[in-house]
Amino acid sequence: MTFLCRLCSCVLLYLCSNQKMSTLTIKKLSAEEEYPDLSQHNNHMAKVLTLDMYKKLRERSTPNGFTVDNVIQTGVDNPGHPFIMTVGCVAGDEETYEVFKDLLDPVIEDRHGGYKPTDKHKTDLNPDNLKGGDDLDPNYVLSSRVRTGRSIRGFCLPPHCSRGERRAIEKLSVEALGALSGDLKGKYYALKNMTEAEQQQLIDDHFLFDKPVSPLLLASGMARDWPDARGIWHNDNKTFLVWVNEEDHLRVISMQKGGNMKEVFNRFCTGLTKIEELFKSKGHAFMWNEHLGYVLTCPSNLGTGLRGGVHVKLPNLSKHNKFEEVLKRLRLQKRGTGGVDTAAVGGVFDISNADRLGFSEVELVQMVVDGVKLLVEMEKRLEKGQAIDDLIPAQK
Ligand code: ADP
Ligand code: MG
Repeated sequence: MTFLCRLCSCVLLYLCSNQKMSTLTIKKLSAEEEYPDLSQHNNHMAKVLTLDMYKKLRERSTPNGFTVDNVIQTGVDNPGHPFIMTVGCVAGDEETYEVFKDLLDPVIEDRHGGYKPTDKHKTDLNPDNLKGGDDLDPNYVLSSRVRTGRSIRGFCLPPHCSRGERRAIEKLSVEALGALSGDLKGKYYALKNMTEAEQQQLIDDHFLFDKPVSPLLLASGMARDWPDARGIWHNDNKTFLVWVNEEDHLRVISMQKGGNMKEVFNRFCTGLTKIEELFKSKGHAFMWNEHLGYVLTCPSNLGTGLRGGVHVKLPNLSKHNKFEEVLKRLRLQKRGTGGVDTAAVGGVFDISNADRLGFSEVELVQMVVDGVKLLVEMEKRLEKGQAIDDLIPAQK
């Protein structure tokens, strides 16, 4: 019956199964003895978790057996991150967000700009609603990319899925993606069939996820069995790509060189919608609900799961004392160009939307398009030794 209750998302049934699980998860040692030392931590989980909350949540588990200790392990092992404020927790299945809502609701509220447990998320995957975006200056904007994640309902998420589940997801994905046609037609490349050199080349070219070196990934349990059932699917010219079984079941990516974000977003929406239809036609829905939008492994990615970004040259602006403030006001985030764990080199940054939840896909990409345009304008001014005071934006 547990399986049935997972599918119908019925809270009452959740509670029943939790109570059953609670007797299994009572430990020999007390909550006080088990409670992690978070005194040196700076992540959202550490800000929210208290001993009382831990005591209460310790008695629970999802129907798949995911516990509060599983939820917080990544945040316990990684007190902070050099470049971003991390969330410090992950979900092991769709039910995690409901069963551990005492912890996750405030974390979500904290991470997503005050998003309340009663708020409803909006989805807009109609690329025609994006204004402009086809004219970012390619002398500054080197490449444009939009990605999201998707989870397949009924399977545990990467921190908790079994080997067999992971393989089933890979099989389903290869079958579904195999039906894409036209300029989306492509092929699947399993990690375990790639040579070391092929893998490294794809990573260096920014197409493939990194090896499981990120402490965030390792601590959350997502690197188990690596490289089993991991891989990348892409079309012939590598402008539409799907990562299988990295941090999420699926990561769907549209990217290309230069600054035509409109084209990138068009392909993203078209491809993603087709993928969702293909999975549905095989009887597999994506995890989604009205409140959280698309349900993903990391609470930071809930909602749209969308990160739209560019690699952009900002050698002058990045040295300006208002750089951080400008990014914050535009609701943008910066990373190094080698991924989330890297620092920027040579004034080239990965600039992307900071939000995922509470804004639609179109709204987020619009923020990136408009924001990057302004950043490039500022960079050009600074290049000529001119002031940028009149260009400093208001808080979005
Ligand atoms: P994600 O949000 O997709 O997990 P990461 O920061 O982990 O992003 O980066 C994953 C890979 O995608 C890295 O190799 C990174 O260089 C590449 N990437 C991200 N944004 C862009 C972009 N705008 N253009 C080219 N490559 C990008
Ligand atoms: Mg990543």
